[in-house]
Amino acid sequence: MKSIRELYTIGRGPSSSHTMGPARAATLFRGEHPEADHFRVVLYGSLALTGRGHLTDQAVQEALAPVDTEIVFDSRTGDLPHPNTMDLFACRGGAQTGFLRVLSTGGGAITLAGRPEAVLPEVYAETSYAEIAAWCKSHNARLPDYVEHNEGKGIWDDLYRVWEAMKRSIVRGLSVSGELPGGLHVERKAQFLHEQRHIDESQATRENRLVCAYAFAVAEENAAGGVIVTAPTCGACGVLPSALRYMQEQKGFSDEQVLRALAAAGVVGNLIKTNASISGAQCGCQAEIGSACSMTAAALGELFEMGIDQIEYAAEVAMEHHLGLTCDPIGGLVQIPCIERNAVAAMRAINALSLANFLTSTRKISFDLVVKTMYETGRDLSHRYRETAEGGLAKNYC
Ligand code: SF4
Repeated sequence: MKSIRELYTIGRGPSSSHTMGPARAATLFRGEHPEADHFRVVLYGSLALTGRGHLTDQAVQEALAPVDTEIVFDSRTGDLPHPNTMDLFACRGGAQTGFLRVLSTGGGAITLAGRPEAVLPEVYAETSYAEIAAWCKSHNARLPDYVEHNEGKGIWDDLYRVWEAMKRSIVRGLSVSGELPGGLHVERKAQFLHEQRHIDESQATRENRLVCAYAFAVAEENAAGGVIVTAPTCGACGVLPSALRYMQEQKGFSDEQVLRALAAAGVVGNLIKTNASISGAQCGCQAEIGSACSMTAAALGELFEMGIDQIEYAAEVAMEHHLGLTCDPIGGLVQIPCIERNAVAAMRAINALSLANFLTSTRKISFDLVVKTMYETGRDLSHRYRETAEGGLAKNYC
């Protein structure tokens, strides 16, 4: 497996596969073609169907500026190597001088067709939770120790930057109100939820409201094109920071403990990315929000110093109850159902933790099995439910 650094990218929303990946591809292509006086970019599949709502055209145009750029949304061409495929053409004086096909594979990662993959080093020899758990048990180590063993001590500085960026996105999200861009007239709700935190209700209700306020804050920042951290994607960026920030405030966990929790979450996200997918265009929302929930459950398990089997159970439960979750963003915008879904998943991760506390010895399903199942389910989902905005809420909303 690759470094968990690949999972946590600090950048602008609203979509890792639809803005970060294409912008990265365009920046690379522009660097390779300084001669170009015109670029033509053709977006296919999910990039064509939801690219306007996800601001793909804007991200690509900004990356290629100031060169004149034409963006084509081609939703008809089928038989694509990946649902997020794009072609880039460089021209000078009307003649084509360069071509590149790029697949935006999720979490901001890209693959360049026909070129040897920029092979990132394999940092981890183990590729299943079972193997990792066996390593931890034989070395009397926890998941963060396993991460440090493979990534080196430098990982903590990187995770510190990640955590700082996550906290900043919460603060920014709570500081603004008003309407999100895109034309759906969705009001930001994080600030309102946060203001209701002192209303005298049960502890559970207050917890719910506060965690949701933080999740809304980050997800709304993402929807507005603000800076967030993919965890593992932009669309699902609010789940992990909201639960961690809440627990840190309530229980007084140190930043060092939170960084160790981020490392544990990174292992879980990495396993899902390696053995299945974290891309909504490939496997639906179960791959984005489901993965984020699973990562968060593992992070909380680490915060509360649960055993390696309990953490597995929490991560498994969190994913299991997202199986089949479709991706159907209204208008192709990462707003409805995405923002609320972040809040619900954060609460679900807390519930998964609670179950794992009592029921781990009775479990029947392993984490590796649920990841395999998520991937198979995702591949069976109709394309209408894989970030095309052609089915579900996106189709029925008027
Ligand atoms: S529905 Fe889920 S997978 Fe689809 S864009 Fe929204 S958060 Fe991402």
